[in-house]
Amino acid sequence: MSDTIENTVINDWEQLIAGTTATCIQHNRELVSKHSQALATHFYEHMLTTDDASVFLSHNQVKTRLHGSLQQWLITLFDIGEHYDLEATIALQVQVGEIHARIKIPMHIVLRGTRYLKQFFARLLQQEKLSPQLQNACLQHFSDTLDIAIEMMGYAYASTYDRNTRSDEVYRLFSITQNLSTEREKQKGALLSWENRLMFVYTVGEQEGQLPLLAASDFGLWFIHKGSHAFEDYPETQMIGERIKIIDEQLLPMMQQHQDATGLQGLHRIREETKRIKFLLNDIFTKSSELEGGRDVLTKLLNRKFLPSVLNREIAHARNSRSQFALLSMDIDYFKEVNDTHGHEAGDFILQQLSSFLLNNSRSGDFVFRLGGEEFMIVLVDVNDDNAQLVAENMRNKVAMEQFSLPGGQPIHITVSAGLALFNGHPDYQYLLRRVDKALYDAKRLGRNRVEVSLSQN
Ligand code: GH3
Ligand code: MG
Ligand code: MG
Repeated sequence: MSDTIENTVINDWEQLIAGTTATCIQHNRELVSKHSQALATHFYEHMLTTDDASVFLSHNQVKTRLHGSLQQWLITLFDIGEHYDLEATIALQVQVGEIHARIKIPMHIVLRGTRYLKQFFARLLQQEKLSPQLQNACLQHFSDTLDIAIEMMGYAYASTYDRNTRSDEVYRLFSITQNLSTEREKQKGALLSWENRLMFVYTVGEQEGQLPLLAASDFGLWFIHKGSHAFEDYPETQMIGERIKIIDEQLLPMMQQHQDATGLQGLHRIREETKRIKFLLNDIFTKSSELEGGRDVLTKLLNRKFLPSVLNREIAHARNSRSQFALLSMDIDYFKEVNDTHGHEAGDFILQQLSSFLLNNSRSGDFVFRLGGEEFMIVLVDVNDDNAQLVAENMRNKVAMEQFSLPGGQPIHITVSAGLALFNGHPDYQYLLRRVDKALYDAKRLGRNRVEVSLSQN
């Protein structure tokens, strides 16, 4: 979080407290603590009558948990006394804002909830029979406190939401075909044109004229101004830059100055360097289209950063279509031993084979992720209580039966442990991930090479 925003909120919040009378603070603290349950109940009853909000709140677990956390949230906000920890209170708003963003609860729903709380609190105050001034001051303090808390929440919400949206955007780009491949062809063509031009100038003997510099060619300009920035993270980029320099600063002058065998040798070396550049360029484009496509470089599976996008979309789809989906999380058993016995390259080779195997054995609508290391996750779309378990058990069994091979061709068998969790309606995908993690952990604990199912009510 930016320091200045946090400072502004801390300052304003401190001033808000300092500008409120002790009587008011005490009244609000007591009133909130006494009626926290009623406030939360009122909040839910009202929110559930509106369709857009009830989508997020109607799940049983949300009801029970949120009812409690809403009460706790209110109590924390107004428990202003010696032990009041403003920074912790602010951190709590940030945390809540991040959760809202993850679930994609629209901000207007949060604001609507705040409005209901204020209205209900005003009624509570009226019953207290305070002087009109005190009543007003207390309502003002309640309202200002909620506003500043929501402001902080909104800030955290927006930054998290932006981050998630960016990743959604990359995901969208990935699902459309890349135009990287046209760029690749274009640049290969540009490099070839420069080579042809060089040959032409050299062979027709325009020795008086300057040989064309690679850095000044279409390819060179593209590389210097765009390519090298777009691909700055790859070592190949630097290598291409070095080769362009060698060509322009050493080999072209060599050709220019010697019209004999030495000149010809320069030409040969240029052709070699150019060939090398083409290879490097190819590598960069391949790697970056995998990365930009969200694919894991080793296995070509989806990488973890798209898990939130995919899960949010599947949750929304399940909600709208009343269909279900499940997460099947898998981890290779004793994989460290495979590496230790056969070497890391053999390990990599097996990871690649297992990845293809998982892809080939899941339906095309399913999403197969490599979460990292030797951990995989399949989002099984359109399954139900009955068949999800069957699919999972089948997959585990097939892996165990499959003959994988070592780089030398020798056969090897591996097994996986798996956790399965069926989407149960909870809008926050983190709950689903936690459930499936726990199931996988249980599968390991209970002996490996088995599937453990997370019960929906967990
Ligand atoms: P288990 O899961 O059954 O508890 O045992 P394990 O040995 O598979 O689990 P652990 O998590 O202790 O070790 C995972 C090992 O997987 C560590 C490392 O040797 C290997 N590994 C992780 N990522 C890669 C990778 O990208 N390539 C290769 N070759 N090995 C990897
Ligand atoms: Mg592991
Ligand atoms: Mg393992």
